[in-house]
Amino acid sequence: MREIEITNEMKIVFDTLNNAGYECFLVGGCVRDFLLNKSPNDIDFTTNATPDEMKECFKNFNVIETGIKHGTLTVIINHKHFEITTYRIDGEYLDNRRPENVIFVNDIKNDLARRDFTINAIAYNPSIGFIDCFNGIDDLKKGLICCVNEPMQRLNEDALRILRALRFSAVLDYKIEPLTEKTCFKLAHLLKNISVERVVTELYKTIIQPNGHKIIFDYIDIWGVVIPELLKMKNFNQRNPHHVHDVLKHTCVALNGAVKDLVICLTVLFHDIGKPDTFTLDEKGNGHFYGHALKSVEITRNIFERLKIDNFTKNQVLTLIKYHDLDLQPTEKYIKKLCYKLGNLEMVKKLILVQRADNFGQAPIHNERIEKFNQIDMIIKKIEQENLSFSLKDLAVNGNDIMNLGLSGKEVGESLNFLLDSVLNDEVKNEKELLINYLKKNKLNK
Ligand code: ATP
Ligand code: MG
Repeated sequence: MREIEITNEMKIVFDTLNNAGYECFLVGGCVRDFLLNKSPNDIDFTTNATPDEMKECFKNFNVIETGIKHGTLTVIINHKHFEITTYRIDGEYLDNRRPENVIFVNDIKNDLARRDFTINAIAYNPSIGFIDCFNGIDDLKKGLICCVNEPMQRLNEDALRILRALRFSAVLDYKIEPLTEKTCFKLAHLLKNISVERVVTELYKTIIQPNGHKIIFDYIDIWGVVIPELLKMKNFNQRNPHHVHDVLKHTCVALNGAVKDLVICLTVLFHDIGKPDTFTLDEKGNGHFYGHALKSVEITRNIFERLKIDNFTKNQVLTLIKYHDLDLQPTEKYIKKLCYKLGNLEMVKKLILVQRADNFGQAPIHNERIEKFNQIDMIIKKIEQENLSFSLKDLAVNGNDIMNLGLSGKEVGESLNFLLDSVLNDEVKNEKELLINYLKKNKLNK
């Protein structure tokens, strides 16, 4: 663990408050991340100055009253943002999420006691050093996520902490301390009271981690409170020679093999969620899942709408789920058509990544498929390098060119699609004059 490096801007914050007679510490995620040699997301300070006193101290600085009611002021120095919050304790929690009010206090120890996990409850300043009343540094060394004080009380106050525990366990590859973990399971039902936006943030941050798959698998009963549809995959035996894993295990192994991109990971997480609903057995006793890709799309669409997932992410994921088991052909013609079908080449690349992950989750892994994916990657490179035509906007003619031939209304779109198909089928080159002549000859009989 290294020394905490104090930048000039951080020094200005310390000096400004100290010179006015107030205490000031770095606290929370930034101290944790500094100790782990990671760069922190944000730099948070805590002080015994009240919000009004802080405002007075920083009156010559650019400040934003971020959450002044909760004691937080953002000071901007050299374009860098620093959140400074008055030492506080939380008032009563009535809704398993937010305190009714906050109470400003004078002792930093009380402020540290309201924080979620010991590793997030360490404070530091250059003159005093670390304040670590809950042995967070020890837990950092042991790799443990442990509630500050009684897990039962702390997770009950704010159930979001359950998902934060899972997320930190994924991000840091730490274990959750046994009593904290047991309490997470016990109180998981309270997650129903947490806003979907907060749930989604924690899910996103979890699944893109290298060991996010473990956190999904080990804590599926907790995720299942917010996404009950996931639970059907658990222990669902596929009875199929391509699979030795049940549906959930397969999904998590595939997630392990997936590139750590949000759209890819979301697709992999939900790609087989329709399997339990489409299961049939043939006369030999083998399981089949005809139409499961479309069923997975339907279920995932419902989940995403409930979780208010943005349309851009949703549309990409649903398209990739729909085609996740498409038998891709390693030919240029086929890949160009696929571009058209999926919208663009980027989506084709994503589909290959999804299929690679899916293959990784199957046992045995099919090496011939890996060979095919490699061939397709080469084809994609060639298409990119040669900038070959593959969608309407890449066609060397546009709507105006077609109208100049005397066509109008629906005929314009039809003609463009006809030409695109012809280019994709290698019947005509993508050059304006050739395309116009081709259209005249084949559609307009001129
Ligand atoms: P990140 O890397 O995601 O920024 P972080 O630990 O900094 O992680 P923040 O959400 O930025 O997390 O919160 C800053 C600090 O505030 C935390 O380190 C923790 O001390 C405290 N905190 C945040 N959320 C909670 C919560 N729900 N309950 C208790 N303390 C919390
Ligand atoms: Mg933070």
